[in-house]
Amino acid sequence: MTLIDTHAHISYNDYADRIDEVIQSAEENGVKKIICVGVDLLSSENCLKLAEKYPTLYATCGIHPHDADKAPKGYLYELETFSQHPKMVAVGEIGLDFHYDFSDRKTQRRVFHEQLEMAKSLEFPAVVHCRESDEDILEGIQNSGNKKGVVHCFASSVDFAQNILESGFHISFTGMITFVKELEQVVRDIPLERMMVETDSPYLSPKPFRGKQNEPKNVLHIAKKIAELKEISLEEVADSTTETALNLFKKLNAN
Ligand SMILES: [Zn+2]
Ligand SMILES: [Zn+2]
Repeated sequence: MTLIDTHAHISYNDYADRIDEVIQSAEENGVKKIICVGVDLLSSENCLKLAEKYPTLYATCGIHPHDADKAPKGYLYELETFSQHPKMVAVGEIGLDFHYDFSDRKTQRRVFHEQLEMAKSLEFPAVVHCRESDEDILEGIQNSGNKKGVVHCFASSVDFAQNILESGFHISFTGMITFVKELEQVVRDIPLERMMVETDSPYLSPKPFRGKQNEPKNVLHIAKKIAELKEISLEEVADSTTETALNLFKKLNAN
């Protein structure tokens, strides 16, 4: 059985003293590929450095909405340079976060749209973060004409999920589905072929690891929860989510 953790922030300092162990135990638990997600220029570069060192690791590059107002002039050029790397698989994470509003909304929108356009022109999938910004995210995706990507850490309604799927984007689930009851119906209602799994490490540990630092090996428990909710086998969930990830993040296949 093979799983892919499509979203983990293991370039963060939280893992610095045990990164070998984290990657090895993921592998031992069937997690054969991990996408290490950047949130600004520095973390994107750090993800790439890790991806160069560990064969199972891949990277994304992008400016998170929290950091939108810190994006330096010329950041798009930097991201484009990163994108040439064989292990750089996506633009992200990008998006809008109207819960925290760490960057002002006007800047969040500009930086989100610029990166969506860039992803489209590079033919790269976009990894999108959405918090209390459903309508604006959907409008942004539709207006960009970008049809390749994922709304990660899905935590909204069935209706929004369906609109996202119609736009061409996929959805990925975190450990939240193991402890947020409202998300169970979303998992049941949307087609298995359109979903992927992620830990969003170090955040959002699934049951039974609540309160502990999350890590990619735990993606197994998210796949198990999907299997339980959809009343299918774990193998089916693993096969389908892996295939969806390999089809979306094309550069996972080449290297
Ligand atoms: Zn996010
Ligand atoms: Zn994230």
